[in-house]
Amino acid sequence: MRWAILGGGLTGVTLSRLLQQAGEEAIVLEKEDRIGGLCRSESADGFTFDIGGSHIIFSRNETVLSFMNDLLSSNKAERKRNTKIFYKGLMVTYPFENGLYELPKEDLFYCINEYIRTIIAAEKGEIPTPQNFRDWILGTFGRGIADCYLIPYNEKIWNYPTEQMSAHWMEGRVPRPPVEDIIRSAIGIKTEGYTHQSVFNYPILGGIESVVKAIAEPVQDFIVTGCSVSSLQKRDGQWVISDGTTKYSADRVISTIPLQHLLPCLGSVPAEVQTACDALRYNSLISVCIGFKGSAPPLSWVYIPDAATGDFNRISFPSNYSDAVAPDGHASVLAEITYNEGDPISRLTGDEILDDTIRSLRQMGVIPEDGTIAHGSVYRSKFAYVVYDLDYLENIAIVRSWLSEQGIDLVGRFSEFEYLNMDGCIQSAFSFMERN
Ligand SMILES: Cc1cc2nc3c(=O)[nH]c(=O)nc-3n(C[C@H](O)[C@H](O)[C@H](O)COP(=O)(O)OP(=O)(O)OC[C@H]3O[C@@H](n4cnc5c(N)ncnc54)[C@H](O)[C@@H]3O)c2cc1C
Repeated sequence: MRWAILGGGLTGVTLSRLLQQAGEEAIVLEKEDRIGGLCRSESADGFTFDIGGSHIIFSRNETVLSFMNDLLSSNKAERKRNTKIFYKGLMVTYPFENGLYELPKEDLFYCINEYIRTIIAAEKGEIPTPQNFRDWILGTFGRGIADCYLIPYNEKIWNYPTEQMSAHWMEGRVPRPPVEDIIRSAIGIKTEGYTHQSVFNYPILGGIESVVKAIAEPVQDFIVTGCSVSSLQKRDGQWVISDGTTKYSADRVISTIPLQHLLPCLGSVPAEVQTACDALRYNSLISVCIGFKGSAPPLSWVYIPDAATGDFNRISFPSNYSDAVAPDGHASVLAEITYNEGDPISRLTGDEILDDTIRSLRQMGVIPEDGTIAHGSVYRSKFAYVVYDLDYLENIAIVRSWLSEQGIDLVGRFSEFEYLNMDGCIQSAFSFMERN
């Protein structure tokens, strides 16, 4: 059987490797001049940055975690997560509900009081099934934690009102914290949240792209880069795939490219399917990569819920993940800004975004006043986050059902159109192999 895999991001190269291991013939067709997709990393001026936003290796799934870690072999460093939320000028322990004792007293009272009221309401069965993400936040954490952190942060990262987002993806994912934990946190007894991420790995050399490169190593000869697939036709039971110049044939096609890129390749798409696909929401990302002289705070990353501090929703410190991604005596910081085309920030130049970010980071005290800037670069990723709006489930069902009728398999973050991390993409590739 001959397979064509559209897209050479993490999912595409993982599928290629697994198919090769199963004795199949598979070719990967990638639009860019190199593989990696959101997991690409760039090195310049002695710094290495993950240009699709800061990445770490973690998973609840032991098999998938070992798959990534084993491939990196000795090229990995282990780090303990030390993450904060920048709140009213304070660095509050993450997750927010574990750092309540660090809040100003009035805010601490608001958060615990509302949390306890919510627990009581839940026990009396007075909390209705959430109709949207905002309802879910309020019914799980109470109005205090919601107002102080969860709503502003989520509206910044999703660039969308929480009441217009679906709650389906949270159900079963984040339980309501036990009341004892909230009390412990409020009086200052240390508690650890999100423990599956409390220790993580990161490549010593080469940034997160090293994971994709290690996966791709045995299949390199079967990857075609610079091939932007523009047409996909079935003739006499065979797929003919083309980028407008070269044609490739295959018995089966797996798409890992965004649905918004796949549909135009298919010629006549029913209006209902096209409308559903056009309505699927996603966010784009600007990664602002800065290297400076001096040292970074001893943190992994920091969430920035408020708009006044800066446009970024998160800053991370790659030089704290690996000693080899910044020159001696230097540190690095990566700021992530989510946006949609047409937003004011989409009209700014890279230099303007860089200058604004450096100014904000100096004001926060993250880059010292005398910390000379040694590197600055800005990258944009069009498809960064799937946004689950209220029509998502209906729209995605229409698109998936039609593509399934065409016989095209969908695996990966923007092909399944799901919020999949690296481990989720690899698990999806494993599951695909089990099904086929
Ligand atoms: C800000 C941010 C931070 C993240 N942090 C983490 C983290 O810490 N840990 C973690 O596990 N995960 C993280 N992730 C998630 C991770 O990046 C993704 O799960 C993963 O990279 C998705 O891989 P993919 O191959 O499915 O998709 P992509 O990386 O999007 O790959 C799709 C590929 O298809 C190609 N393509 C598109 N159109 C065409 C076409 N017409 N023809 C041919 N090729 C085409 C693209 O160029 C791309 O290479 C993060 C994501 C973001 C946005």
